[in-house]
Amino acid sequence: MSSENAEGDTSLNTDESDSDDYYNYDDVDEDVVFQDESERDPEYFEYCLITQEDAENMMDCFVDETAKKLKESRSVSRILLTLHHWDVDGILQRYNNDQRAFLTEARLMPEKSIPSLKPANECEVCFQYIQTPMQFVMQCGHTFCNNCWLGHVRVQLENGRALGIECMKCNTLVGSDNLLSLKLGSEDLKRFKFFLLNDQIKTHPLFQWCPGADCSAIVKAESCKAKRTVCSKCKTTFCFQCGLDYHAPADCIVIKKWVTKCQDDSETANYIQANTKDCPKCMICIEKNGGCNHMQCYKCKHEFCWMCLRNWTEHNREYYECSIYKENPQVANENSGLKAREALKKYLFYYERWYNHGASLRLETETRRKIDQKIHEKVNNNIGTWIDWQYLLDAAALLAKCRYTIKYTYPFAYYMEDGRKELFEYQQAQLEREIENLSWKLEREELYKRGDFENQMDIAEKRRRTLLKDFLIN
Ligand SMILES: [Zn+2]
Ligand SMILES: [Zn+2]
Ligand SMILES: [Zn+2]
Ligand SMILES: [Zn+2]
Ligand SMILES: [Zn+2]
Ligand SMILES: [Zn+2]
Repeated sequence: MSSENAEGDTSLNTDESDSDDYYNYDDVDEDVVFQDESERDPEYFEYCLITQEDAENMMDCFVDETAKKLKESRSVSRILLTLHHWDVDGILQRYNNDQRAFLTEARLMPEKSIPSLKPANECEVCFQYIQTPMQFVMQCGHTFCNNCWLGHVRVQLENGRALGIECMKCNTLVGSDNLLSLKLGSEDLKRFKFFLLNDQIKTHPLFQWCPGADCSAIVKAESCKAKRTVCSKCKTTFCFQCGLDYHAPADCIVIKKWVTKCQDDSETANYIQANTKDCPKCMICIEKNGGCNHMQCYKCKHEFCWMCLRNWTEHNREYYECSIYKENPQVANENSGLKAREALKKYLFYYERWYNHGASLRLETETRRKIDQKIHEKVNNNIGTWIDWQYLLDAAALLAKCRYTIKYTYPFAYYMEDGRKELFEYQQAQLEREIENLSWKLEREELYKRGDFENQMDIAEKRRRTLLKDFLIN
């Protein structure tokens, strides 16, 4: 973009440097007929929200089916299912292979049978004679009166335990249906059922609690994948597989490693979080109050990149390298002190970009709010209708989506092995460039036409999808 004329001249709205590339790009995919939505949208994921009652019924169904196959009680089947992540075939195989060892390992049977020292009808806790018939018999042979059981369960519920409740004398598990046969008070019963459901959902690969604060929605999916899931109840967006913030193209393991690393190194990274830098030309201090990283000095009008401080025009015209970390090829032969310094440099490079895109995401929320306000004013003054200006809000929403993805490309790139790194960095750079172009235009929306935004949105989203299509696992 030509810096001298950018302001006020709406005809200068296409990046000459980019137009060839743009049209070539546009031809890709055009004639392909997609089989289904998942081929068109790499983030497509099928799931639905279900109630706790639905979830309970579905779990009970699985348990019943498994109990029939194993010819075991529902108590035993439920414990085996949660222990082995609801892999029925695996359970059947191991059960048929060595039933005793399998049940012992699951703490459903004691390792050695315990010789009974007491008469069978005496409670081993309060030593009272058990008058009413016992509700169930423990595999380990220990006997307790119903009152002692009730007291025990109440204490265990304080610790959030349901399926994990053990015998009072050994570590044999009691089992849900045994415990349900006790006459629990209505509060205890409610809590027990909740913890029981929680134990099951947490171990079942196709169910996930919504991680939203105070949201108790349950999501049920057709497959367990690290895909974007949006709770229709509280609008929280999360990764179905790990329940953390959605993190494509990074996978669940990478993002966990990255977040832990960032927490451990928070002191080192702190100095990056400044929102002022000096203009590289006139040295005046500039505060960053917009999301766009294409900066223009308010004093000398010099345009530069916030991230690397290079001149923006050459930065954007030539191969965009701002996002690519260049490792020092000599480092392998250097001493350990230098190696450590290089490693820190590399981490800070990725961290700064990760942090900065997060900051931009927050600042662009403010841009979006301002645009919304401007549209309000325009509509009130009879300058167009909401429908006429909707494209600006669409552009802001798309920018947020793209910014979010580019943020998560940095931890992905940090841990990436060499093999496909070059292609990834190329696509990442392409996407980042279009994001900054879109952000620049949105911060100056009065200079651009609807068509400019539509083209810019189109190309940004295509780049985002291309990157995800090539690098999103499963
Ligand atoms: Zn007792
Ligand atoms: Zn026992
Ligand atoms: Zn929710
Ligand atoms: Zn995940
Ligand atoms: Zn300046
Ligand atoms: Zn840069």
